[in-house]
Amino acid sequence: MSSVITEPAADVVCLGLGVMSGAVAAELTAAGYNVAGITVGPYWDYQSDFFMSKYDEWGIGVMRKFDWPLQTSSFTIRNNSTQYANPIRRYTYPIQYHALGYGVGGAAQHYAGSMSRFGPWTYQAASMTASRYGPDFLTSIEPNADLYDFPMTYEEYDPYYTQWEQAYGVCGTNMGPLVPMSENFPMPAGPRTALSDLYSTTAEAMGYNPYPHPSSLATQPYVNQYGVQVNECVYDGWCGELCNYACETGAKANSAFRTVPAAVNTGKLTIALNSYIFRINVDPTTNLATGVSYYDSAGNVHIQPGTVIHNGLWGTNLFRIEALSGVGTQYDPTTVTGSSGRGWTYGYAPYSGTSASGTINIGGNAYPAGNASGGGTDIFDFADDNFDHTGLGFIGGSNPSFGGYLGSGPGNLNLFGSAMSPSNIGSTFKAKLKDVYLPTKQVVSSTPFAPCIPSTQHYYDLDPHHTDMYGDPLARLTVDWGRNEFIGATYIANTYVLPILQKMGATNAAVSATVPPGSAHVDWWGAHQRGAMRAGTDPSWSVYNRHQQSWSVENVFASGEICNTFGTFVTAGTHPGGPLSYVAAEGIKMYLASPGLLD
Ligand SMILES: Cc1cc2nc3c(=O)[nH]c(=O)nc-3n(C[C@H](O)[C@H](O)[C@H](O)COP(=O)(O)OP(=O)(O)OC[C@H]3O[C@@H](n4cnc5c(N)ncnc54)[C@H](O)[C@@H]3O)c2cc1C
Ligand code: SF4
Repeated sequence: MSSVITEPAADVVCLGLGVMSGAVAAELTAAGYNVAGITVGPYWDYQSDFFMSKYDEWGIGVMRKFDWPLQTSSFTIRNNSTQYANPIRRYTYPIQYHALGYGVGGAAQHYAGSMSRFGPWTYQAASMTASRYGPDFLTSIEPNADLYDFPMTYEEYDPYYTQWEQAYGVCGTNMGPLVPMSENFPMPAGPRTALSDLYSTTAEAMGYNPYPHPSSLATQPYVNQYGVQVNECVYDGWCGELCNYACETGAKANSAFRTVPAAVNTGKLTIALNSYIFRINVDPTTNLATGVSYYDSAGNVHIQPGTVIHNGLWGTNLFRIEALSGVGTQYDPTTVTGSSGRGWTYGYAPYSGTSASGTINIGGNAYPAGNASGGGTDIFDFADDNFDHTGLGFIGGSNPSFGGYLGSGPGNLNLFGSAMSPSNIGSTFKAKLKDVYLPTKQVVSSTPFAPCIPSTQHYYDLDPHHTDMYGDPLARLTVDWGRNEFIGATYIANTYVLPILQKMGATNAAVSATVPPGSAHVDWWGAHQRGAMRAGTDPSWSVYNRHQQSWSVENVFASGEICNTFGTFVTAGTHPGGPLSYVAAEGIKMYLASPGLLD
């Protein structure tokens, strides 16, 4: 085995350099602290790695050359605790298009950049539901509900949202009166499509509150608060098609092009690339972390000492490193005790649910054009508790979105999007391309799922059967969808979405056959997982306090979507994860100034 190399001590050790740790690195170096960033993978550079000459659909979409190699480490999934969990062994196409972040920039190197804040209700869903509908309403829907309020209100998170939105350059206007924002997004929305315009004017005429779908694909040249210059999107559509394609101009916001360059420029950030972190080292005497251990690409073990650890390894890996290191108490679903891994809830809805659809007599340009997440319109009126749920049998709602750019990535012009057949291969297919990609009518459809309620039966733990390539247990995910999602979709599709489609002039507007709860089970994993490493007010059910500080090892802080106490399908989820990185950065500064458990 290799030698052990001890690195110079840092004030803050950032685990990973994706969205979350990038923001913490920028903030802490700007405050004068020395930061050590450690990540698997390289520092992707859009100019040398993603520029025009590097277009490579096969390498990116099929060979997954920018993604975490699952043979190093993966995780396992099952639907309930009686099952044997199988490991994720490969990224399959088209279903398993989500991939683990790998390198500086993380998974956001090739995300779609679809954004949205959570609404105020999400932050206090437990108490607001109880106070409006009574203490038993929630358990009448989900008997195993394990729902708690965030440790702060939406209004208290608002300034942290603003900081993150300015760093990333979120594009849009604001989200309207139902999601009040103290400041508008820093960049304007991309041009709306004709369908988006129709949806907006129709919704407004019906008394609703439309707003442009927020996106983090820069709509204009921009300089963020750290002085990092951002290029605008050129609307070539390359980043679409299930989001597999990295951006060749840097317009797609991620840490490699927004926050890490600022930290590098201070001269106070060291970066260890191609380095696999396997432990947070905790001194049993002081119960404080002393640093982290990692393998470099040659197999050498390094120790990176630090005063504070920021865990930004994303969902599964964020949980796993703390579980492997004995930070926190593992959740036990039998006794319903312990907080680490507890309260997992999905940021993805089932594949199928009751939907409303129709055909609108508006054309569009579906050649690669536009970008992955701009152009559309959303409304928040049917989300959260913005309508009376008495007697409906579900909580929360949905924010139907229509009119995003039709143009997508190179997958539009290749065969990866669906199985090969005469409909997408050969001369007949080629002859039809012009008509296919310049439609004169569009079928619009919405499946407005209500949120996935955290359950005492859904959690992470360490898998007793499967390990990574170094012999450490993988994380195991025990999950399934509940009733709330399906019941909500049926009600909202019939009551709210169908009348809008009719008003928009859709022909054949109709609601599909009702899809009941239990019709689908989780059989894939997605990049949006929440709750299993919750922030909260009580260490019996939460892992971090309101400063994103570990209740159990007080110089460990963390941020990520998995730390969100609850979540809804109104957003993919990076956006409401981002503010937590600014909460953590502030908490770390407070801790460095005065060590101890913050109040
Ligand atoms: C195809 C795709 C499409 C997506 N579309 C959207 C979208 O439209 N909107 C949206 O909001 N989100 C989207 N996402 C999700 C989004 O990319 C993530 O939410 C976001 O990147 C999470 O940020 P993070 O900092 O928590 O984690 P990441 O960005 O994944 O960063 C984690 C970092 O930790 C490193 N790391 C992990 N484990 C280790 C270890 N053991 N040792 C060393 N380093 C480690 C990784 O290399 C990486 O740098 C998408 C993701 C994918 C893959
Ligand atoms: S369309 Fe996508 S890949 Fe192309 S410049 Fe815009 S954000 Fe980047």
